[in-house]
Amino acid sequence: MSAKIIDGAQLAMDIRRDLSRRVESLEAASGVTPGLAVVLVGDDPASRVYVANKTRACKAVGIRSVLHRLDADVEQDSIIAIIKALNEDPSVHGILVQLPLPPWIQSRPVLEAISVEKDVDGFHLYNVGGLVLGDAIFSPCTPYGVVKLLESVGISVDGQNVVIVGASNIVGKPMAHMLMTRDATVAICHAKTRDLAQFTILADILVVAAGVPNLILPQMVKTGAVVIDVGINRMADGRLVGDVDFEALVKKASYITPVPGGVGPMTVTMLLENTYLSALRSQGALVNRAGNAASGDEAFYASGR
Ligand code: NAP
Repeated sequence: MSAKIIDGAQLAMDIRRDLSRRVESLEAASGVTPGLAVVLVGDDPASRVYVANKTRACKAVGIRSVLHRLDADVEQDSIIAIIKALNEDPSVHGILVQLPLPPWIQSRPVLEAISVEKDVDGFHLYNVGGLVLGDAIFSPCTPYGVVKLLESVGISVDGQNVVIVGASNIVGKPMAHMLMTRDATVAICHAKTRDLAQFTILADILVVAAGVPNLILPQMVKTGAVVIDVGINRMADGRLVGDVDFEALVKKASYITPVPGGVGPMTVTMLLENTYLSALRSQGALVNRAGNAASGDEAFYASGR
């Protein structure tokens, strides 16, 4: 068996092409350009690269992005004051605080300062609660990207056994809620899970987000399973790899995502989607809570605005 590769880079490109058309239409109809404000605290090199990618991606689809770079020793209250000003700014539709923040800054109060309507990362407690109830205002970008990847190849999770390896607040936990909402049977594993393989072997769909190269070996996976590798690990020789043994699993899985070129490009794409969605909502468009921008677009343009 040779798995079909789910090409996240191609899907991301297709979605972004379509998104730039929708951004143009929104501007033509309402004069509004979607705007994303990015708050970057400190000098973490990885964060700088991620932020540069996000702002470049915004520009490519016509979303206006503004970067607020703050020194690592900035007071927490000053960060919150900037966020509050951005909450009031009608040209800003999405606010993103790049994580991790320096360890002496508490991330929760900072994230809670973001207006729920502009929380395009989906990390505000209100959005987290909405996700648990299956009624999120914004879906967190990485799990949202995984859902889109599965949809793109026609894989329904309804009634499937999904095993998620990794239980972080930004990937594993929201992923579990999004898939439960879509009627999957979900198990979540983490670093303290005893005998990981006894869970992974049951997966029809295996989502791995642990940050451990080669964590998932072929004997841990059922023949024909769908394998989604969220992990991104930089090896000593400079190579970027995921969490699964791709070379071996490509011979055993039915579908698999590569690293790079799988989930990664989708994460930024869903951030762009959420920012556009927020701009659309700011114009009073009827957009459903699950982030179904397409139906929202139709309602918006049909309303003649
Ligand atoms: P994280 O906050 O470090 O969480 C890692 C999770 O994996 C934790 O729940 C941890 O368990 C679990 N884990 C660690 N070692 C494990 C093991 N040996 N067996 C089973 N579970 C294990 O990381 P994250 O932010 O979720 O990111 C996870 C990976 O995804 C990283 O490689 C990251 O770079 C990547 N990532 C990729 C994207 C993308 O766009 N492709 C986006 C975000 C993250 P405990 O909870 O017990 O500690």
